[in-house]
Amino acid sequence: MNTLILERLKKKASGIIGNRILKTATVLEVRKWPLSTLVEIDLHLPFTTMDDWNEVNYIKCKVADFTFRDYTPSGWDAETQTCTLYIDTNHKGPGSTWANQLAQGYEVGYIGIKSTRQTPVNTSAVICLGDESSIGHLLAMQQLALPAARFSGALLMGDEHSRNLFTEYFRTPLKPVLRTDVYGHHSLTEWLLQQSYNLENTIFYLTGNSTMVSQLHKILKQQGYNHNQIKSQGFWS
Ligand SMILES: Cc1cc2nc3c(=O)[nH]c(=O)nc-3n(C[C@H](O)[C@H](O)[C@H](O)COP(=O)(O)OP(=O)(O)OC[C@H]3O[C@@H](n4cnc5c(N)ncnc54)[C@H](O)[C@@H]3O)c2cc1C
Repeated sequence: MNTLILERLKKKASGIIGNRILKTATVLEVRKWPLSTLVEIDLHLPFTTMDDWNEVNYIKCKVADFTFRDYTPSGWDAETQTCTLYIDTNHKGPGSTWANQLAQGYEVGYIGIKSTRQTPVNTSAVICLGDESSIGHLLAMQQLALPAARFSGALLMGDEHSRNLFTEYFRTPLKPVLRTDVYGHHSLTEWLLQQSYNLENTIFYLTGNSTMVSQLHKILKQQGYNHNQIKSQGFWS
């Protein structure tokens, strides 16, 4: 098929998706973390009801023609139908490019919202571990964890400045941990070994890059936690 016909077909398909499936959110505010590649985006989603958000969800956002990326809403407010995304743009990709050009008033297209099926289960200790791409996920877990006292964990941060900002900015028991290796599993393992978690009634939730998630999963199993106590979700590899 020649390129011109293919392009026409693509445009037609894109129009159909645009008209029939895509919902629209509006960007209320964008905050770029100073000296960091993290972009924080407040969204208004007038076509989405949040009253039944009992699990951590993700939004499939249109970041370019025929290109979608998943991002995790956190800090949602069902009454105003608003939420915040935290997007790590420390790499080249259509999602990064898209996040970096967003500004107040821009429209964001998305194909609905789905559940990751992660929610803090009914146990006394919910421990979340993740990298920068899972800030939204970890904060969403915190929002769902009641009573709040059973929630804790650690979040990888690439630099000291972001660690300080994270501590100043958020009221959270999550500890920002400096990443000293590429994927971060060594840094988080070191942090884990300094903690004294109970072997019973503790559930770990691992999210972020797939290498980190799978390596931490292995280490926790070696420490004696069983498969049901470790909930893993790789975001990218
Ligand atoms: C359920 C779910 C929820 C997610 N929620 C979030 C979220 O809230 N925030 C968020 O930032 N991401 C989140 N992600 C990851 C996100 O969907 C994209 O995969 C990621 O942002 C990369 O998209 P991209 O187009 O920028 O880069 P891609 O074109 O997909 O990747 C380009 C290259 O960059 C590498 N790469 C991708 N992401 C990163 C990264 N964070 N750091 C370093 N290298 C990377 C890839 O390995 C690849 O080599 C989520 C993923 C899933 C599955």
